[in-house]
Amino acid sequence: MVIDRRHLQQHLELAAQAYGPDLPLPAGTVVPRVFAAPTLPPAQTVPAAIAPPPAPVSPRTPPATAPAAPATPPPTREPATAAPTAASSSAPGSAPGSADDDPVAQLQRLRNEVLPCTRCKLHQGRQHTVFGEGNPRARVMFIGEAPGAREDQSGRPFVGDAGQLLDRILTGAMGLQRQDVYIANINKCRPPGNRAPEADEVAACLPFLRQQIEIVRPEVLVCLGRTAAQNLLSTTASTTALRGRELDYLGIPVVVTWHPAYLLREPAHKRETWEDIKRVNRLLGRPEVPPASGA
Ligand code: SF4
Repeated sequence: MVIDRRHLQQHLELAAQAYGPDLPLPAGTVVPRVFAAPTLPPAQTVPAAIAPPPAPVSPRTPPATAPAAPATPPPTREPATAAPTAASSSAPGSAPGSADDDPVAQLQRLRNEVLPCTRCKLHQGRQHTVFGEGNPRARVMFIGEAPGAREDQSGRPFVGDAGQLLDRILTGAMGLQRQDVYIANINKCRPPGNRAPEADEVAACLPFLRQQIEIVRPEVLVCLGRTAAQNLLSTTASTTALRGRELDYLGIPVVVTWHPAYLLREPAHKRETWEDIKRVNRLLGRPEVPPASGA
């Protein structure tokens, strides 16, 4: 098996950019598998829509939308319309191609419902409801636990240190930007003291996430951390037990990996997340490692 040393170097540079210098270098057995040319689709066979930025992520994807604002967003933050496609799901009774097919409009309606929600006690202490944001036709959706202090202040998911690490993972390990994917949480309001959401709070909020998934219809769901995985999958299994397993939710493959906040505390696990994201890339039919820019 021939190893392309130039691509090997690019791979290691990407890993360092994504995870920092504390990433343990891949074992020697990993590298040949990653860079073995026969396992990677030829560059020209990768649909333009799933090529690295600035191309959109999905064949059914219009130009990615900007992140949503915390409260009522200005119209420019999410497109008012998007061309419906045959792949779009129709609401009962709606005509194909109608506004009811439009995931942007569907997400906006759901957002309008969620922002003033008082279904559970978490609404009492929130500054902002954190609905979620990203590409309404994203091929991959990342699911976290609940807003933290920074997210509660801004109304946007994953904007603190953990969010910055998530951004680096997206860029370094997937060749994507935040606006190419969809990011949401199990709970939309911040639990006091950053505690984990309680069972009744999850039960009240989970239907919103389910609707987001049904609207966006991603091809892969990525659970970030134990709370997201356990609540989405209705299991008590640990993150360690769930990583690497073939799981699904509503028929959509689920990949479980560490929460970025945990990776900041336990950087030794970054290498495992690197492997998990390579699996996401494989499920999406993308190269395990994004091509280096200019390659
Ligand atoms: Fe409503 Fe969810 Fe917020 Fe509870 S956490 S008030 S269910 S939006």
